Amino acid sequence: MPKLAHLIKQLTVLTLLFSVHCFANQQDLVNEESKNASFELIVLGDSGGIEDGNLSAFLLRSVKSHNYVALDAGTIVNGINQSVKQNAFADLPIRHNPNWSTSGTILRDHVKGYLVSHSHLDHINGLLVASPEDTNKNIYALASVNKMIGETYFNGIAWANFTDRGRPPTLNKYHVVDLPIGEPISVTDTQLKVTAFSLSHPVESSAFVLENGSDMFVYFGDTGADIVEKQGKLQVIWRYLAKQMQHKQLRGMVIEVSFENERPHNLLFGHLTPKLLMQELHSFASKVGGKAPLQDLKVVISHIKYTLANNLNPRLKIKQQLDEANNLGLQIIIPEQGQKLVF
Ligand SMILES: [Zn+2]
Ligand SMILES: [Zn+2]
Repeated sequence: MPKLAHLIKQLTVLTLLFSVHCFANQQDLVNEESKNASFELIVLGDSGGIEDGNLSAFLLRSVKSHNYVALDAGTIVNGINQSVKQNAFADLPIRHNPNWSTSGTILRDHVKGYLVSHSHLDHINGLLVASPEDTNKNIYALASVNKMIGETYFNGIAWANFTDRGRPPTLNKYHVVDLPIGEPISVTDTQLKVTAFSLSHPVESSAFVLENGSDMFVYFGDTGADIVEKQGKLQVIWRYLAKQMQHKQLRGMVIEVSFENERPHNLLFGHLTPKLLMQELHSFASKVGGKAPLQDLKVVISHIKYTLANNLNPRLKIKQQLDEANNLGLQIIIPEQGQKLVF
């Protein structure tokens, strides 16, 4: 019996050593990834409705800067709160301010602007409701998007006009910047440049190519597939990226998949399914050319529709459908609110 006990003890020690070793290896990988990173992305909101408190919004920064730009703004304060709880800002030197909470300091001092893809409420709700305690910053969007946001929300009826345009009285907290299509613009107080493109959706939507030196990251607002929308707008972006990739590195992307493959095209309302996304990415890959052109590209899936219905798990189903169709060697990531990702 003592022999058996001894053996069990030895096995336990071995298992423990092995787990420590695996954990260390995993840590090495994470550290290696962080060391080579160019961008940091914080997931403030991972879904495309219907859960208030978790709607499309991300923070992006160059790892060389302490300042973020928000990519859409469906959920801002709850997203920052959840991310603080999950230590997503552990690498950010946050200057303690006795007047403001940690989340308050992050929003007020470290978020330097908003890139809004389109005027739908699930992409701007967080910005609107946080505006009374926000600091002065820029809202960047395509001209048509800025116009719709001004007319719909910052009109003194839906919400006070916190911007410097449109219906008086203007409170001038947000300076509204119209982004030209296809032309890089610096994002004030960050290390990033942004180039905007138009996307097909029931209202005009947009994609943003962010540049940090010779590294690129692309964020897509809501979009339909070219085969459904017949406007060729995604083709324009794939062509642009493929050309830029001749001398720059694409580090990752956020793109939407709202519905499962089973959803008929006439009920997509300007959104993608796993199958349509993969068709688009194949088209992109053929433009980049070469052997396995998108191998290991990190593709973050946003805007999966949350549901209150029983017995449905759209996240799981969409992940399965994407994994089954992924013959491009992509790293498909289904993000979680509060998570930090590096690229
Ligand atoms: Zn949306
Ligand atoms: Zn939308």
